[in-house]
Amino acid sequence: MDLEKVSGEITKILVTAEQIDSKVAELAAEVDRRYEGKDLLLIGVLKGAVMFLADLSRAMQIPVQMDWMAVSSYGSGTQSSGVVRILKDLDADVLGRHVLIVEDIIDSGLTLSWLASNLKARGAASVEIVAFLRKPDAAKVDVEVAMVGFDIPNEFVVGYGLDYAERYRTLKGVAVLSPAVYS
Ligand code: IMP
Ligand code: MG
Repeated sequence: MDLEKVSGEITKILVTAEQIDSKVAELAAEVDRRYEGKDLLLIGVLKGAVMFLADLSRAMQIPVQMDWMAVSSYGSGTQSSGVVRILKDLDADVLGRHVLIVEDIIDSGLTLSWLASNLKARGAASVEIVAFLRKPDAAKVDVEVAMVGFDIPNEFVVGYGLDYAERYRTLKGVAVLSPAVYS
């Protein structure tokens, strides 16, 4: 869906579809370089990373496999609860494999730092993170992110996989959600 369709519900466009395309191509080339000759498993975090992982993986030239996990840290509100729960676990065994976690956004960083340690504990050969978006608070938590698409201000955003109460995920770009929608 085009951002113009929800112009009354957003306050600012942060990333356009065109900017996403070129950034994803850049990130894909970087992943290709880093994992050339390696057996790479992309792990997408449902549901927010669906669009990013689909685009990133198709822009890559090395062969990869993909798997998905669903975790919850937010409920349906706009604040991270800090409690991470596995709602859907991986199908694949990560033992001895190179894993790249593909995330839509790092906000507090709580979800990702928990997920990275969880996958390391399962014996992955390496665990790295690529995040499409990053908010400033992510710096407060000790989570190493190998690659980031865009650093954005500390506002609640929607689109390109990111939702508010399961809405707005299919927007082609990323925009700041109008506070009127959630207050
Ligand atoms: P963290 O644990 O605070 O880093 O939160 C990570 C998760 O919260 C992300 O994977 C998103 O699903 C969700 N999230 C964080 N910020 C936003 C936002 O601005 N819009 C929509 N979802 C968000
Ligand atoms: Mg997410």
